[in-house]
Amino acid sequence: MGEHIQKVLYVEDNPLNMALMHHLFKKNLPSVLLLEADTGELGLEMAEQHQPDLIILDIGLPGLNGYETLECLRRDSRTERISVLAISAFAQLSDIAQARQAGFAGYITKPIRVKAFTEIVQGLLAERGG
Ligand SMILES: [Mg+2]
Repeated sequence: MGEHIQKVLYVEDNPLNMALMHHLFKKNLPSVLLLEADTGELGLEMAEQHQPDLIILDIGLPGLNGYETLECLRRDSRTERISVLAISAFAQLSDIAQARQAGFAGYITKPIRVKAFTEIVQGLLAERGG
């Protein structure tokens, strides 16, 4: 029975946020492999190729934004079932409602609250059977 290494793909254009996420995973989710993409387009390719257990998707991205990237993920049979968590600095209630309606599994606002964020990620990964 091979151990399944859980993979999370983080799509984020800001290098500092990416570095912080690597730090957070190393400290709080050390058994999870964090993959990175800096555009939605690259994120789509990596999602197809690596089949991550969860995608954390920045809303504000150059090129395809987070909503457009989610739409593409949902239209592709290889990625349609992957849970996608939105992350954004926009924290209006209307933004959160829009994200839920679009089909995101949750909505994280920046700056990240580490404990709550870690619990959300663990919960979504547990749903995937990890
Ligand atoms: Mg951004």
